[in-house]
Amino acid sequence: MLISFKCPACNNRMYEDQSATGKLRQCPRCRHCVQVPMVKPERRFSLRWLIAILLLCVIAGASYWIYYYLETHS
Ligand SMILES: [Zn+2]
Repeated sequence: MLISFKCPACNNRMYEDQSATGKLRQCPRCRHCVQVPMVKPERRFSLRWLIAILLLCVIAGASYWIYYYLETHS
């Protein structure tokens, strides 16, 4: 997994493999030596979010249906 971090000297965004954590890398722009930080890998759109949004739609739909049912049957 790739982790991204910024060079503290020139703010250049750098990418390095997670296995390189703690190692020194030279910034390609300013030649500053940067230690690869301990950060979580950048996440793309995760499945968990999709499930959460879907669940929210289901709950919203169900509550609307219940409301509609109660309105029309009372
Ligand atoms: Zn730099």
